[in-house]
Amino acid sequence: MGKIIAVANQKGGVGKTTTAVNLAASLAATKRKILLIDLDPQGNATMGSGIDKYEVPATCYELLVEEKPFEQVVCKETTGLYDLIAANTDVTAAEIKLMEVYAREQRLKKALAPVVNQYDFIIIDCPPSLNMLTVNAMTAADSVLVPMQCEYYALEGLTALMDTISQLTSVVNGNLHIEGILRTMYDPRNRLANDVSEQLKRHFGDKVYRTVIPRNVRLAEAPSFGAPVMYYDKSSTGAKAYLALAGEVLRKTEKQKKNKKEADLSI
Ligand code: ADP
Ligand code: MG
Repeated sequence: MGKIIAVANQKGGVGKTTTAVNLAASLAATKRKILLIDLDPQGNATMGSGIDKYEVPATCYELLVEEKPFEQVVCKETTGLYDLIAANTDVTAAEIKLMEVYAREQRLKKALAPVVNQYDFIIIDCPPSLNMLTVNAMTAADSVLVPMQCEYYALEGLTALMDTISQLTSVVNGNLHIEGILRTMYDPRNRLANDVSEQLKRHFGDKVYRTVIPRNVRLAEAPSFGAPVMYYDKSSTGAKAYLALAGEVLRKTEKQKKNKKEADLSI
């Protein structure tokens, strides 16, 4: 059964898309079968995967609103060697159209049900708000990966996100949990960043990934090259950091599987 991870934070510019694209590529490099879903009308994850968002035959709009079959919407094997559900400005309308339909928060979950077993991981790049698209992502997901910059107001934003996740847990998705909190664009010379990082670890313990994503210009340049950073400059600190993150995600997933098996056996 594939694991569905929503990459979410209602704040823009914290590294969601960079994380979704590069985690997808790094996991794909370990021979796992990966699907990346771009749910942001900005289509940055689509472009960053080497797919022209204006040339795609379909986007998540067709998947969610028109309920077109997955096989007609998916772009196979992008530059990062993962499959992609694209997004572009058409997706803005999905937000409004979904408000009119029955069980509107379940559309993505329903669309993925027939294919979830074809993938090891499905990574969802969420838009920078807690809107119906993000709610769809969190309803479909097993867990949420939260990228954050270690800035002064970051912890406040995190509280709002945690509240939303716990509301969703009680209403539509009882199994949803935090996959991990990822420190992005990290500069260890910045004292405030270090302070916020310490607070984060005190508050969230081992939910905070040990891997830290440094500020690295190669990560910012790679999208204009239309590829994940490991295909642009594989020796960069950014490429290495995302490979390390993929390793941590894989180890955590194996551990969860083992714990679940033991729990099932003891019943
Ligand atoms: P979000 O999806 O949360 O809005 P992005 O992933 O698009 O955030 O990142 C915002 C901007 O910061 C982009 O221009 C991106 O290239 C850049 N960026 C993201 N992570 C890093 C990093 N670790 N080092 C340098 N630039 C980064
Ligand atoms: Mg983004």
